[in-house]
Amino acid sequence: MKDPYEECRLCGHHCGVNRRIGEKGICGLGTEILISSVGPHYGEEPELVGSHGSGTIFFAGCNLSCQFCQNWEISQAVEGTSVSVAQLADFMLQLERSGCHNVNLVTPTPHTPSIIDAIRLARNRGLSIPIVHNCGGYESMEPLQLCEGWIEIYMPDAKYSDADIAELFSGAPDYPEINQAALKEMHRQTGSLVVENGIAKRGLLIRHLVLPNNPENSFGVLSFIAREISVDSYVNIMDQYRPCYKADLLEGMDRRLTEQEYEEAVKMAHSYGLHRGF
Ligand code: SF4
Repeated sequence: MKDPYEECRLCGHHCGVNRRIGEKGICGLGTEILISSVGPHYGEEPELVGSHGSGTIFFAGCNLSCQFCQNWEISQAVEGTSVSVAQLADFMLQLERSGCHNVNLVTPTPHTPSIIDAIRLARNRGLSIPIVHNCGGYESMEPLQLCEGWIEIYMPDAKYSDADIAELFSGAPDYPEINQAALKEMHRQTGSLVVENGIAKRGLLIRHLVLPNNPENSFGVLSFIAREISVDSYVNIMDQYRPCYKADLLEGMDRRLTEQEYEEAVKMAHSYGLHRGF
C-alpha cells in the first residue's frame, strides 16, 4: 500500500502533498508526531470520564481552521513535543495503568498512519481499554479505512449541514458531504454507542455544537443523523459556544448562544426521533 504521507489525502482537503519531503498542506503538519499534552481528562461526556477520567492525548495542529476554535492555541500552532511511535504507545499504556477508561486521541486525523502503528504496538503489549477517535468530522475515507479494526469509539463533530457556513467558518465548503460520508462509515464500522455499567465501550458518539443565529444548520445536521445514521445515535448537542479566536470578525458569532436557541435545537432533535446524549 502506498505511504499515505507521500500524497496526503488524510482529510477532506485532499491536499496531495508529500509530507515525507517537507511539503505542507493546509494543516501545515509534517510527519512528526507532535503532542501538546497527555493525561486524564474529566471534561468529556460522562460515559467516557467514568470515575478515573478519559485518557486524553492532545495532538498539536488540526486539519480544520475554525474561526471560533476554543482550543486555537493548540490547534492553530503547529508546535508540541515530538514523540516516536514507540513513545506514543508508551503513553497509551501509561494512561491505562493510571486507571483511565479509554485512550482519547484528540484530532488524530493528520497523524492517522503513525497512530495506527502506535495502537498496534500498544495492543501487542497488552493495551485493553478502548481507543477513542476524537475528531472534527472532516475525515476522508482513506484514514477511516486505516482505522477499521483499531478504533473502538468514534467521536466526530458534526459541525455543519450548510456549505456556505462551512466555508465561511472553517474554510471547508464540502464539509457537509465529507462529514456525512464519514459518519456513515464510522457507524458502519462500529455501530451506535454501546454503554456498559455507565462506561462507553464501542460505537459512534457524535458531537454537535449549536451556533448562534444559525438554527437551520443545526436542524440539517440533526435530521441527517436521524434519517441516515440512526435515531439511536448518541448525539451530544452542545450549548457551550462562546466567541473565541476570530469569532468577533464573523457576523452574528460574537455572542454566546441563548437558552432559547439551544432549546430549539433539542426540541428539533426530539421531533426527529433522536433520544440519546442530550
Ligand atoms: S491532513 Fe489534510 S490538511 Fe493536512 S496535508 Fe493531509 S489532506 Fe492536507
